[in-house]
Amino acid sequence: MNKEVTHCLLCERELQQVITWQTLFERSWPPVICERCEAKFERTHYTTEELTTIFYYNDAMKNFLRQYKFSQDIILAKVFRQELNKLLRNRSETIVPIPMNPLKKKERTFAHIDELLHAAEIPYEHLLEKTTTETQVGKSKLQRQQVAPLFSCTKELAAKHYILIDDIVTTGTTIAHAKKALLDAGAESVTAIVLIKG
Ligand SMILES: [Zn+2]
Repeated sequence: MNKEVTHCLLCERELQQVITWQTLFERSWPPVICERCEAKFERTHYTTEELTTIFYYNDAMKNFLRQYKFSQDIILAKVFRQELNKLLRNRSETIVPIPMNPLKKKERTFAHIDELLHAAEIPYEHLLEKTTTETQVGKSKLQRQQVAPLFSCTKELAAKHYILIDDIVTTGTTIAHAKKALLDAGAESVTAIVLIKG
C-alpha cells in the first residue's frame, strides 16, 4: 500500500502496512515514520489567536532538524506533511513562508520551509524578502528587537488575511518582524503557524 516509503525514515525499521479507518479517512498519506519515532515528538497543543505551534523542540526534534536541515535530506519534508496539511488545507488565508537568509539558502541548497509546504501539498506565496543577511546569533532579545526591520514585503497587499509559516519559534522576533512587514504592506490580519516551539 505504501509504495513510496517502506521503512521508517528516521530509524529504518520496517513500516507496518496496516490500513485503519484513520488511514482511510483522516490521513491523506500513509505514514513515513514508525509509531515509535512518532511517539517521540511531543505535541504543544499551543494555539492562540496569533500563533499556533505543533511540537516542542525536544531531543527527537533536534535530531530531526539536524538531519533535515543540515544534511539536506529532502525526503524528510514528508514527516510532518500530515500535520501541516490538516492545519492548512481548508484555510482561505494566503500562506506565506518565512524566507531564508539568501546566503544560507545557497549553503543548504534548498528552502526547507517551502519543502515542508510542498510535501503537504499546501500552496503558498512568497511575499517577504530578507532585508539583512546579518545573523541574530549571539544577540540578546532586546538587541534583536532593536535591529532594523528583518523583512520587507515584495508588493502592496490586498487587505486580506495571511498566515506566516516558520519551522521554529523561540523569542518570536522573526514572526513579529514578518508580521509587521505584511501589515505595513496592507494586510488585514496576520497569524502564524510554526512547526516547533523552541
Ligand atoms: Zn522509526
